Amino acid sequence: MINKDMLSLGEKRSAIRELFEEGKILKEKYGSDKVFDFSIGNPSVPCPDEFNAAIKNAVNANAPDLHGYTSAAGDKKTRDAISTYLNKTYGAKTTGDLIYMTVGAAAALSITLRALSSSDMSDEVIVFAPFFPEYSVFIKNANAKVISVAPNLNTFYPDMNDFENKITKNTAAVIINSPNNPTGVYYNKSVLESICKILDKKQREFDHPIYLISDEPYRELLYTYDKYDFITNFYDNSIITYSFSKALSIPGERVGYILVNPKCENASQVFSAICGAGRSLGYVCATSLFQFVVPHCLNLTSDTNVYKRNAEILYKELSNIGYKVVKPDGAFYLFVKAPIDDDNAFSKKALEYNILIVPSESFGIKGYVRIATCVTEKMVLASLPKFRELFVHYNS
Ligand code: PLP
Repeated sequence: MINKDMLSLGEKRSAIRELFEEGKILKEKYGSDKVFDFSIGNPSVPCPDEFNAAIKNAVNANAPDLHGYTSAAGDKKTRDAISTYLNKTYGAKTTGDLIYMTVGAAAALSITLRALSSSDMSDEVIVFAPFFPEYSVFIKNANAKVISVAPNLNTFYPDMNDFENKITKNTAAVIINSPNNPTGVYYNKSVLESICKILDKKQREFDHPIYLISDEPYRELLYTYDKYDFITNFYDNSIITYSFSKALSIPGERVGYILVNPKCENASQVFSAICGAGRSLGYVCATSLFQFVVPHCLNLTSDTNVYKRNAEILYKELSNIGYKVVKPDGAFYLFVKAPIDDDNAFSKKALEYNILIVPSESFGIKGYVRIATCVTEKMVLASLPKFRELFVHYNS
């Protein structure tokens, strides 16, 4: 028998993928310079030259283990190099022994959620709306329930009262993502402190750990703050899921990692559960070539100024037109209030203007659209008259 849940996931594309496919049809019909595709978060600037050079060096050196299995958790030297980098950059006190190499953040999240949720369907995982739609898929696959916390609509930080009220004795974990997909908003020190204070209180009340999973694929894409506030410095029971996809522009190479905070209660057991979940899901030994390459690129990024500039142009110009735009601090997304309540209808209408923007419903909130700014500046500038026409359609 086919699993019905899996069948429905496979048959139903995500809203983002759906639009992406729609875009391909429009581009064939009208030509790609006439279509303004802001649908998908695929990095648009090339990876740093050093990344390609590191691949060539690794291949030329042709070490006997180049294409072999590493240990299930990943190559020891790679894990140690990542830990050394994190300690130096963020003043963290991590160790390579608590790092598990993965095929991107998607695997890192799936493994972590499986490791932290019991098998009896009783556990709950809290997410802050709006959130990356795949969180729901990964949480349900870990046999846990998705509990969504509303945002404060002025700041797009979590509504702290709603957060506190939604934590129950069944809360196993909370996921944060900052800078955020889809809003671009960054949770600064004071926001993190508020979240952690509530978690500390609730851990004491329910007398068990509540893990904070910090999903950080956009960590280096931060524009309005000088430094990233690293979660292990704020909350002991924290686990980081990271991806090299976005900052290095290598999403197709599928490499990332899980880091367990050494200060976590029973950290080595948590790590063993992660190894167990990796094993049970078949996520052992992330791609070896890229495990050997990333240690040479830890302090590099692609030219993220392109995203920053696109975000600045769109924020300014769309606000001037009359759209209500959430001010982004980082990542490569802009979150815009739809001029009507129905974000799906608005996104459909935008297609008539050859603009592809993602309705917010799949991010767990109604009435907004997401614009990906990882596109060319040329396309951004060319799209502005169409955004104006679209706005006028609703406001004439
Ligand atoms: N988490 C967030 C918030 C994302 O936006 C993405 C990808 O867009 C992922 C995780 C998955 O990243 P990866 O490509 O490394 O699997």
